[in-house]
Amino acid sequence: MTLTRHCSVCDDDRVFEQPPCDDGHGADCPDLMCSVCGMAIVIGDAPEVPVVVRSQAA
Ligand SMILES: [Zn+2]
Ligand SMILES: [Zn+2]
Repeated sequence: MTLTRHCSVCDDDRVFEQPPCDDGHGADCPDLMCSVCGMAIVIGDAPEVPVVVRSQAA
């Protein structure tokens, strides 16, 4: 999988690709790496969507 993102190191739009993942994410790995300079972006820093726990009021 590749994406085009703005790379802050290259200061330009670059193709990002998934680096080899050692964390067991497989195809779902959120990490991206600039194919030009190698700068890594870890998207996992973004807050996850909270799970809504419904009250048991029927
Ligand atoms: Zn990973
Ligand atoms: Zn770059």
